[in-house]
Amino acid sequence: MKNKMGIILPLLALFVGSTGLAETPEDYRFPRECTMTPDGNPVPLCGKPLTKTPVVVRNEGASLKTYPEYFVPEQEELAPNEMRLTAVGSGNPPVRRGQASTSWLVELGNGDKFLIDAGGGTVPALWSLRIPLAQLDKLFLTHLHLDHVGGIFNLWDSMGWARNTPLHIWGASGSTPELGVAAFAEHVAKAAAWHTRSKRGIILERRRAAHCARVRLSGSSPRRTRIALVYDENDVKIYAFPVDHILEGAVGYRLEWNGLSMAYTGDSIPTRQEAEQAAGVDVFIHELFIDAPTFAKQNNMPLQFAENVVHEHTPADMLGRIFAIAKPALGVGTHFFTNDYTIDPAFEGIASEYSGPVVIAQDLMVINVTPEQIVTRMAKTDLLSWAAPPPPPPPGAKRPQLDPPVTEGRTPQWVMDTRLTGEE
Ligand SMILES: [Zn+2]
Ligand SMILES: [Zn+2]
Repeated sequence: MKNKMGIILPLLALFVGSTGLAETPEDYRFPRECTMTPDGNPVPLCGKPLTKTPVVVRNEGASLKTYPEYFVPEQEELAPNEMRLTAVGSGNPPVRRGQASTSWLVELGNGDKFLIDAGGGTVPALWSLRIPLAQLDKLFLTHLHLDHVGGIFNLWDSMGWARNTPLHIWGASGSTPELGVAAFAEHVAKAAAWHTRSKRGIILERRRAAHCARVRLSGSSPRRTRIALVYDENDVKIYAFPVDHILEGAVGYRLEWNGLSMAYTGDSIPTRQEAEQAAGVDVFIHELFIDAPTFAKQNNMPLQFAENVVHEHTPADMLGRIFAIAKPALGVGTHFFTNDYTIDPAFEGIASEYSGPVVIAQDLMVINVTPEQIVTRMAKTDLLSWAAPPPPPPPGAKRPQLDPPVTEGRTPQWVMDTRLTGEE
């Protein structure tokens, strides 16, 4: 793999500190020196992935692709048989400066891109990855908790001017229509009425309506659906399966393409169902929750409240048990409060049930998956990045006409009559 200056960087660069490439761009998300926790894990926000297995070699005899120490947007092409998974947001409902809420980006070597969940704070990360947001038109929602959908207005708005196709949303139907993803998308569009009206005649706002595909899973009916094919295009298959997270309408997804696979289960109480549906995938991304006393203390919350929340999630030892059943090539814990003092207990809890390769996600952690190896690194991004250029329009495509500008409901005339002209 070549960097900007055409230097071949050895795989060893993953482990031996900075390289020329590591200096570009400067990323102020990594303000800390990489000291180690008592158990020998790197501390968060130092530019290293939280794992003891940044490289999982799957085929000892194969010649292995080498990667720079950091993933830098626009400097690495995916190979035709390669998948890249990026933790766009690795956190919880409290959006933190160092950890956004939940979102994962899946990019395939055939050019397809999928976004799973879009929590608060995740769109700035997508922007910094220099992906033309107009290309992100396939959003799969695991459930409708706000930490998984809170960024949807930003996503919708950021797609803006370059966008000629709708944002397609997949998600579950709930136990009643108002609890389903279709009602959610309809109300998002309704809530944006002022915004949408104001953009008439300025940009192609009407092209941006959210189209919705409902994943119908008969969760509590006698005809139980264990797993359903919900997307089948361009050799990509995505399956949805129910998970146990408070209400009917919470699902996990399993994506298969070109012999590679990943699963992401959103939020859930551990069940054999989800472990079986994710069995044997290359990368299994699963939530991981801290213990109730720490959660209560750090959030100034009564212990009983904290226990109620934790009860709907997955503690570390149970995540280990899930991985032990599913046996992924790499297990990823996400939706976790990464702090210096939470890392070691989490790894210890997982290790009490499972000894395979495990990573705890941080924002903009990047996992490259090939048949030969799985490599986990951090992305270095420009925090003040501008928009990536959109892909060229298809040959012969005409730019759609703008709607006529808005006339009704404009700013009151008497306010407009006081506009400054510069000649006062
Ligand atoms: Zn959540
Ligand atoms: Zn949730």
